[in-house]
Amino acid sequence: MFELIQSQKNSSLKLIIAQSQIVDGNMSFARGDADEVIKNRNMFLGRYGLKLENLIAPHLVHGNNCELVDSSSKSRGAYTLDDAIPDTDALITDDPGLTLAVTTADCLPVFIWDEELTRVGIAHAGWKGLADGVLKKTVRKLKDVHDGNLYNVHAHIGVGIGKCCYTVDTDRLKRFFGLGLCHIHDREGEAVHLDLKEIARLQMKREGLREENITIEDECTKCGGNYPSFRRMGDEFFTDIAIITLQEIE
Ligand SMILES: [Zn+2]
Repeated sequence: MFELIQSQKNSSLKLIIAQSQIVDGNMSFARGDADEVIKNRNMFLGRYGLKLENLIAPHLVHGNNCELVDSSSKSRGAYTLDDAIPDTDALITDDPGLTLAVTTADCLPVFIWDEELTRVGIAHAGWKGLADGVLKKTVRKLKDVHDGNLYNVHAHIGVGIGKCCYTVDTDRLKRFFGLGLCHIHDREGEAVHLDLKEIARLQMKREGLREENITIEDECTKCGGNYPSFRRMGDEFFTDIAIITLQEIE
């Protein structure tokens, strides 16, 4: 998945959104050799003309914390997990040139930006983070720094596990019913298929994003075969990296 979005409302910047695939290799310091992760990240970013030193990544905990970051945090989480933004699953910045990143392997990467290209955000959203409101917090934080106007805010839900493959117990489903969400699952005999992408969409819509400004990648990490998947790969799983950045147009 790769998108380059050029805004009619800002001719000096371009928006880049990308998510690595299995062929790009492991992108998580928690899942393997650090030198290889750095090499893989450099290769992947280089394809879009980006540098690893400008990347910022959080230490993901499946929580709901969203941090506003600027160039003073440049490189944190880029070369090691040790200096990653702690206990955080979502980042926002209004600094062009910085690349925000999260790693996923079935969880959803959610990209968010405004049409004027004044700021961008990224969230790592699995079932726990969604239940705890990681997207609500991310959208609200973006709104805080955006004068409360979400009319021009867009979100893209990246490749993650689909309803086709995401079977859960009823307790997990009830957790979302408890949040007032419906039409978020299918039943197949005893099995409950939960639709995380639809949950993400509904939650952002509820926070005020316009329906037509939310787009979704249909591909499933588990059965699609192109992206790393915890549920498919088991103990051998590794992660992709999802990035969002604003870059000056030369
Ligand atoms: Zn699937």
